[in-house]
Amino acid sequence: MSKRLVGLMLVALAASGLRAITLVARQSAGSAYTIVTASGRRPLPVRAMGGAEMVALDQLAQIFGFALREDTLAGSMNITATRQTVVLTPGQPAASVGGRVLSLSSAVLRDGRNWYVPVDFVPRVVGPATGQRIEIRPVSRTILVGDIRWPQVAVRLERQGASVRVSADVQPATPFRLTREGNTVVARFDATSLDLTLGGASVTDLVASVRADGVNVIIDLGPAASIVRPADDGAGGRFTVDVSPAPRPGQDAPPPDLNVGLKIVAIDAGHGGEEPGAKSAAGAMEKDVTLALARQLKAAIESRLGLRVVMTREGDDTVPLDRRTATINNSQSNVLISLHADAAFRPTVGGAEILTLSPSDYQRRLPPATAPALTVPVVGGGTRTIDVVPWDLAQLPHVAASTAFAASVERHLRERQVPMHPRAQDTLPLRLLAGANMPAILLETGFLTNADDAAALSGADRPAAIVDALIAALTDLRASMARGGGL
Ligand SMILES: [Zn+2]
Repeated sequence: MSKRLVGLMLVALAASGLRAITLVARQSAGSAYTIVTASGRRPLPVRAMGGAEMVALDQLAQIFGFALREDTLAGSMNITATRQTVVLTPGQPAASVGGRVLSLSSAVLRDGRNWYVPVDFVPRVVGPATGQRIEIRPVSRTILVGDIRWPQVAVRLERQGASVRVSADVQPATPFRLTREGNTVVARFDATSLDLTLGGASVTDLVASVRADGVNVIIDLGPAASIVRPADDGAGGRFTVDVSPAPRPGQDAPPPDLNVGLKIVAIDAGHGGEEPGAKSAAGAMEKDVTLALARQLKAAIESRLGLRVVMTREGDDTVPLDRRTATINNSQSNVLISLHADAAFRPTVGGAEILTLSPSDYQRRLPPATAPALTVPVVGGGTRTIDVVPWDLAQLPHVAASTAFAASVERHLRERQVPMHPRAQDTLPLRLLAGANMPAILLETGFLTNADDAAALSGADRPAAIVDALIAALTDLRASMARGGGL
């Protein structure tokens, strides 16, 4: 069973475990958001109330052109928007939109004549109610309304021998032109604006700084930079710039980079020890299923691919998530595969599912104190109580690579007739993945509450098919990384 935060997503940006990540142009919480539409921008003031960022409903009504009518008898507020009617009740962390109840990160507040809603009301409720795509960007405190090109560019610096590689993942993919201009390399985006995040090593002699200027990402080269090789994927999703110092006398070229390529695979067998995870009706426990599969996968990776494997647990041990994250990150692994088996209230729910993180998982940044355990709806009906955990930004630069790897795993699982859940690939703000400083996926191998899945996972063929699919996906990954393209 995975820890799922479906309704609420947290990032403790101020957390001490933030590593060397700088957020460019980040503004403090509590300041206004900027609403960006195709026709312009306007501020949306926010107010901190009870630990949450709230906006005045009448302000939203003015901006988005909906009518407000208070139902004094029922004590509720009716909102008539272009598409739907919304009903709000004070004190409720939810809104009824066209009869469907959508949850909000905190309760609707009423202060005399004024009504306040949490900021996430804008994408979650105003979006569907007005039939517009609305997205919140917490880094730049902007709210994008409609079809606005505003990519998030996650740049990482990595030392590779004597060189440094600047790699940038662009989400969503947005056309750009990469050019060398004097002592800079500039990626010029065809966009309204962009958000830049920076992570990884600091190599100031080769790369002095990386900054955003309007729709440009500018890499300022350092004094030692001599050989500069820009490359991009041609699809607006990724670029790299390799910067090397001048070759020393007697050397023709910089030494070949020995760090490129897939070398180490981290395998995380979910749960263990005092945490059994999901259970089947016949008594199979998730912690045993995942460990057996992890051992098979380790043996196959070592014998068939000749790669090193790092395991977060070798036996039936209780290993806290933070220790798993530390093991994985300290091992210099190139990719993480976390193995789990799921549970649902309805026994008919089954199939494998591959989970990754998405950039939108980084949207919330409430302090953890305001969000204790949460009860969230789960696939197949019912609810599940989960821990709300703060997490860091380690995974953010790898989101695109993780998603690509998940797609490859899904394809290879399907080729081997492994039954897939209707939503075979999904994103959830999972703590282990969030802390992983490498491409990472969590594979729910099936549902132990589904009799067919449980029997198959306890047999020989299904685990063998899953291992085979993962070997195939890792083989593709190795080939792609050897070409220097990452994932
Ligand atoms: Zn699990």
